[in-house]
Amino acid sequence: MFETERESMVRHQLEGRGIIDRRVLDAMRMVERHLFVNEDDRPYAYEDRPIPIGSGQTISQPFMVALMTQTLSLAGDERVLEIGTGSGYQTAILAELAQDVFTVERIAGLQVHAKRCLDPLNYTNIHYKTGDGTLGWSSQAPFDRILVTAAAPRVPQKLFEQLKIAGRMVVPVGGRLSQELDLVLKKTGGKMQVMHRGGCIFVPLVGKDGWERD
Ligand code: SAM
Repeated sequence: MFETERESMVRHQLEGRGIIDRRVLDAMRMVERHLFVNEDDRPYAYEDRPIPIGSGQTISQPFMVALMTQTLSLAGDERVLEIGTGSGYQTAILAELAQDVFTVERIAGLQVHAKRCLDPLNYTNIHYKTGDGTLGWSSQAPFDRILVTAAAPRVPQKLFEQLKIAGRMVVPVGGRLSQELDLVLKKTGGKMQVMHRGGCIFVPLVGKDGWERD
């Protein structure tokens, strides 16, 4: 279903705007985004925008999913920590491209729903946790890659601690209304290097090392 819409999304919204990672493009061609939105929203699933998924949260715009995933630079053998499971769509893309995905969501109902969407797709490399993702997942650390899909006021310290040396974290950082997409590198000796990858708008990362409230 929706093959034409999906192909058009990849051609115009992703390739047309500079997404060049073949593996990312192939994954986004394959994963059926309409399965991750409410039934009424399925006809709009491939449009160039975020879509509400309940509890005041959204499934991210396809271009933003592609840009964040490309920025992670995945070869296939990485252990990835994702903060903000949301609909589970980005989780599926990561599960296609990495060895293992550890995904944390603070809203239990959303995680249940995401799991319900992902289970029939038979991924065996997704691990779920409900809780405050600003604290990471210490028992599974360290991670090769960390992706934060909500807006942080600063780079969350615990997440940086749980990143491997030479690891990469992608995180929107800034104010509540708009942010910069940051690529955070952990250099030898544990030094942090931050590079900006463009402006973005995300829902707030709410937790101990994030914003106090939605
Ligand atoms: N990537 C998701 C997708 O494809 O549907 C979209 C994620 S949505 C933009 C951001 C998610 O981050 C929301 O589901 C929100 O509940 C979650 N979130 C916010 N703060 C969090 C925290 N401290 N820990 C875990 N999840 C958090």
